[in-house]
Amino acid sequence: MKSWQRVAVPSLDAMGHGTGERPSVHDVRRDGRAVVPAGRVASMYTCGITPYDATHLGHAFTYLAFDTLTRVWLDAGIEVRTAMNSTDVDDPLLERAARDGVGWRELADRQQRLFRGDMESLRILPPDAWVAVTERIQPIAEAVRRMLDTGDAYTLPAADAVGEGAVDVLFDTTKHRQFPVGAGSRTDQAEMLALTREFGGDPDRPGKRSPLDPLLWRAERPGEPAWDSPVGRGRPGWHVECTAIAMEELGAPFTVAAGGRDLRFPHQEMQGHHALALGAPMFSDVRLNAGLVAFEGEKMSKSLGNLVLVSRLLEDGARPEALRLALLDHHWRQDWEWFPEQLEAAEQRLDRWLAWSTTPDDDPSLSESIVPWLRVTLADDLHTPAALQAVDTFILRAPADEGSLAAIDALLGIDLRSVRAR
Ligand SMILES: [Zn+2]
Repeated sequence: MKSWQRVAVPSLDAMGHGTGERPSVHDVRRDGRAVVPAGRVASMYTCGITPYDATHLGHAFTYLAFDTLTRVWLDAGIEVRTAMNSTDVDDPLLERAARDGVGWRELADRQQRLFRGDMESLRILPPDAWVAVTERIQPIAEAVRRMLDTGDAYTLPAADAVGEGAVDVLFDTTKHRQFPVGAGSRTDQAEMLALTREFGGDPDRPGKRSPLDPLLWRAERPGEPAWDSPVGRGRPGWHVECTAIAMEELGAPFTVAAGGRDLRFPHQEMQGHHALALGAPMFSDVRLNAGLVAFEGEKMSKSLGNLVLVSRLLEDGARPEALRLALLDHHWRQDWEWFPEQLEAAEQRLDRWLAWSTTPDDDPSLSESIVPWLRVTLADDLHTPAALQAVDTFILRAPADEGSLAAIDALLGIDLRSVRAR
């Protein structure tokens, strides 16, 4: 699928190869810090949107967190490859399309276009591969077939499906693997069960080997989209989609499995187990979870109807750079609540930075550079609030030199010169 347009990321070193530090980030699986990548090459898979509620501030905050990680990697001279999916066929999308009387493909296309535009406005670097699930039905089905062959999956009759003898395929979480289910996301049994229920996992279905077993393949139901495949006519389950796409694009283990904290269980946990079942030694080296954004006291979500959309804020006159600053003013792992005053404060901060950017650097030989300040704060678990404060302090004591302007662009994604030129 066509990704969005990539903005240029200036190099901060005269020779063009990055000399920044590799970042230390908080890994969910270790529940501690890890310097990533171990070597000079990094790969990252980010769970993408289900295109029916794009793009709210929670999405923007998540993708901005991993955009920051990518920028820090590039500055450290790391070779980076990234992939992301779009869950363009799934229950919530189908339900929304039915409710609104539109085709599910039409709804997905429209939301994906909106998302693409929002990501471009916010200057979020696009993934090297942005893959729609509907583009990869056959490889996903093939992964499910392999899990049936190895005994990692089993079938259950699907009485309400189209056709005689149709079956759903489920993943067997009771089978012994390298680590028990829940260990990777640091989740206990009661919480796992509650989250399985919350995320549509149908724990009470008769015949399941464990209530936690997720669906790998759903046989065709009347009125639902379905594809012919080696495991019957139907459509894939949510976790195996991401597993198959990530492994196809990046191999396994790749460096970082990334997503919002609400994906910690079951989604990312099951990806990890699916990958083991498919023969990978590990799905990813580390697992990163961005914090969740609340509005009016609740996590922002379509079902609660408390969405703040990026497109709406921009239509109402917010500058995208100010919105970016408002989001970067929260640490990527923190849960936080959105208040409109945060955007006002960010607009004022942007104005201060813009005013500074025009101060002449009369004697470049005397000037300081913001580069080390930004590198230090961001290498420390991507501490963007500290990086913004570093700029606030820096602009009070030094003129605007070319290197600092480039660093604010490369590492924070704010190109003050282009904002001024508008
Ligand atoms: Zn995913």
